[in-house]
Amino acid sequence: NNLYQIEGWGHPYFAINELGNITVSPQGNDYKIDLFELVKNLQKRDIQLPLLIRFSDILADRLQRLHSCIEDAIARYDYNNVYRGVYPIKCNQHRQLVEALVEYGKPYHFGLEVGSKPELMIALATLEVDETGETLLICNGYKDEDYLETALLAQQVGHNLIIVIEQINELYIILELSKKFNLKPQLGVRAKLQTKGSGHWGDSTGEKAKFGLTIPEIVAVVNRLEKTDQLECLQLLHFHIGSQISSIAVIKDAIREASQIYVQLVTMGAGMKYLDVGGGLAVDYDGSKTNFYASKNYNMQNYANDIVAAVKDACDEKNIPHPILVSESGRAIASHHSVLIFNVVNSNNPPQELPIIGEEKEHLVIRNLWETYENIDEENYQEMYHDAVQFKDEAISLFNFGYLTLKERAKAEQIYWGCCRKIYEITQKESYVSDDLNDLADLMISTYYVNLSVFQSAPDAWAIDQLFPVLPIHRLNEKPNKKAILADLTCDSDGKIDKFIDLLDVKKSLELHSLETNKNDENIDNLIPESNDFKPYYLGMFLVGAYQEIMGNLHNLFGDINVVHIECKKDAYQIKYVVKGDTVTEVLKYVEYSAEDLTEKLRCLTENALAKNQIDLDNSQRLIKNYEENLRSYTYLI
Ligand code: PLP
Repeated sequence: NNLYQIEGWGHPYFAINELGNITVSPQGNDYKIDLFELVKNLQKRDIQLPLLIRFSDILADRLQRLHSCIEDAIARYDYNNVYRGVYPIKCNQHRQLVEALVEYGKPYHFGLEVGSKPELMIALATLEVDETGETLLICNGYKDEDYLETALLAQQVGHNLIIVIEQINELYIILELSKKFNLKPQLGVRAKLQTKGSGHWGDSTGEKAKFGLTIPEIVAVVNRLEKTDQLECLQLLHFHIGSQISSIAVIKDAIREASQIYVQLVTMGAGMKYLDVGGGLAVDYDGSKTNFYASKNYNMQNYANDIVAAVKDACDEKNIPHPILVSESGRAIASHHSVLIFNVVNSNNPPQELPIIGEEKEHLVIRNLWETYENIDEENYQEMYHDAVQFKDEAISLFNFGYLTLKERAKAEQIYWGCCRKIYEITQKESYVSDDLNDLADLMISTYYVNLSVFQSAPDAWAIDQLFPVLPIHRLNEKPNKKAILADLTCDSDGKIDKFIDLLDVKKSLELHSLETNKNDENIDNLIPESNDFKPYYLGMFLVGAYQEIMGNLHNLFGDINVVHIECKKDAYQIKYVVKGDTVTEVLKYVEYSAEDLTEKLRCLTENALAKNQIDLDNSQRLIKNYEENLRSYTYLI
């Protein structure tokens, strides 16, 4: 089971039990939930796949781990201040999740970060006012006057709210509003660091970064505040060099640069209290522990140590008090807690059957192909592969010029596939296979059709080639015998997953098991299987708790999926919430259709057809009933 690197990316939450099923340990301890059994139980409650399971205890555990890593670093380096983290709501804004985080975060004075007006609305009402004033509400993002007015006034109801200036014009609006309401704003600045980020979000730094102030702009802010006698209002320095920073070297560079800016701001007389290191703490999606973009070459403790040590060094050198450390980790907190479960609905395997040859006089090209097939062995397989490809190409040319019948072309293709299969089996036993046989391995890859929209449930896999661990959640004590890519339900050729995690690089296929039917004796790999009655085959996509849900879209009108929240009480779990996915009616509403209007139009259609005797009354009523049932149903295959 090293195939799926589960130990690398899943520890301590995910493992495999003696039944070959994935287990989830929500608190990272000995209590384990059998995921396959859980999914079957949820189905008995009529909660259908695809399904997102959120384990809120994992969320609590991630929060606690982050906190204790930074606390440990603070103790280790004799750092003379505290850590006050915030959760960036953009990472996953769902109410149950944000509420859970706020609750779990209370012992640590864990706050929230917002990047837009709607997110500010959530945070103001969800974050409880902390009597000690230690829980932060950090306001980032583009801000208009309404945003700023609400934020400024909310500082007066007890929230420890800091407005981070990301665009220079925000300063002028803030100063005007502060004068109007006669209040002193609590401000921060976001710096555009020179440190080069890495990976997909590397452009979040440098002069061309979308957000933040250049150093001359920061100096201008200081001067302006000084002039209006409000320099003590500037309390926080923020930077964010991008998400999923795989390399610790990049983080070290950034914190070194930011610490110096912080020290300078103090020296210039600003009322500095906080250094906010943003997000970027990466998740090891492939378990390789490298600086590959789907991984990271450091752990949470290394991250904490490097930050604490760098800030302390910079401050001590100039005899400046250590700031309260703030971080805005989203991905590292939220990713692990959600698992996406979906079923395979069918598979398309390379053809297995050989034609019957020799009953009639075969065309020369078919005979050549057959001879090639029969003569393949360990010595000549490479040459035979090229012969087979050439004869197959010849057969297609002959067909295109009208010299081969459809049946003959079918035979030619079947024998060609037979050759490929035979050669592939030989190559599997070889220690070295030459590059010209690379295409062969790709040809032998099956397609597994899955009950899922990649666009809705794993948009990053489509948009930015993000890798997530994907594997069966059962049958893991059976050796998988197929290599497959996954094709989703959308009618879009991009709606597929064809890159998978690998220790060394990226795999082009995933090891999966043959589908089984409920009739055990039949060969599922036949071109037309005898039955469509497959035994369930469930796959899980892991570490999808950050960004995926909210960025999903309605491509082909596949809507939100069912979501279940699981909470543990000692050694038992309970379903805390079920959030039903969209019905067809709901997704149609997003695109301005009314279910009643549509049903009425269909009714008129059936009446017209009835009048022309094209349909009888029973079938017309059946059609209407069916249509209405579909409107009420889940948008996925049931
Ligand atoms: N803070 C800011 C300003 C961000 O833009 C982001 C997201 O990119 C984050 C925090 C969260 O980053 P991450 O999910 O990498 O922790």
